[in-house]
Amino acid sequence: MQGGLTLWGKKNKKMRILVLSRKPSLYSTRRLVEAAQKRGHDVRVIDYLRCYMNITSRKPTVIYKGEKLTSYDAIIPRIGASYTFYGAAVVRQFEMGEIFSVNESEAISRSRDKLRSLQILAREGIGMPVTGFANHSDDIDGMIETMKGTPLVMKLLEGTQGKGVVLAETKKAAGSVLSAFRQLKANILVQEFIKEANGKDIRAFVVGEKVVGSMEREAPDGEFRANLHLGAAAKKIELSEKEKKMAVEATKRLGLSVAGVDMIRSNEGLLVIEVNSSPGLEGIEKTTEKDVASEIIKYIEETLADN
Ligand code: ADP
Repeated sequence: MQGGLTLWGKKNKKMRILVLSRKPSLYSTRRLVEAAQKRGHDVRVIDYLRCYMNITSRKPTVIYKGEKLTSYDAIIPRIGASYTFYGAAVVRQFEMGEIFSVNESEAISRSRDKLRSLQILAREGIGMPVTGFANHSDDIDGMIETMKGTPLVMKLLEGTQGKGVVLAETKKAAGSVLSAFRQLKANILVQEFIKEANGKDIRAFVVGEKVVGSMEREAPDGEFRANLHLGAAAKKIELSEKEKKMAVEATKRLGLSVAGVDMIRSNEGLLVIEVNSSPGLEGIEKTTEKDVASEIIKYIEETLADN
């Protein structure tokens, strides 16, 4: 039997889907399972850290607790930020076995590198805050000179949920933060602070070529980071066609099909700050009352039907 695709023809609409997730009890995982079952598919949750593989095999397969996972049509990777390397390797092995992945391994790795993602988006002409990066402490002043002035937002490249994001009010403070982080060998981005964002950001949930839901998050008083984990409040919003197009474009340029695109409003329009390849479903579904999980399953159905 070769891959799952041969099993699934246009006549037979039932698919076999694997959700790669560390925990079946997570909201996003549960919702994907529910949506797949509701649409009549077989679905199973697999902990990707318990998957192993023989990479030299001519028939690339993924093995889970002794079982070869070959007869599947599609995988939905939900790879945690701390496990990108191993998770992406597992996804790649599925792809080589001709099992369709909602997001490709290459795109997952690419999107997890904040610097690389921003470099790609900038090259493609997607709006983002002015961003700088330097290695040597002697070059930090020069790099800061290229920015539009202070305050400046500093971001740890490996940070998530707003935890590695700080505001430096003066160039001097920015320089000190940068050299302190450099001492610890941490990589840090420096970004123009978009004051007019006013502690709000926008999450657009993209599936395929569509924004299937969007919300605005607002930071609590005295905080500029609008992360839900830091107590931000969320509400449903409608994006303009132009804004939707921008979110879809950013997703596409990174090679992703499902993404959470984070944007902030500046005087010059929306700016992209981050593109997430395993965006959570809980915030967006509860805020927008949209069935985002089913949109992901429908996307798999449509893509495989075209093949
Ligand atoms: P993380 O990936 O850790 O969430 P982000 O880059 O998304 O880091 O930043 C966290 C939050 O900080 C954003 O959601 C946004 O509200 C705020 N923020 C980020 N960058 C800027 C900026 N350049 N100007 C103003 N606010 C920002």
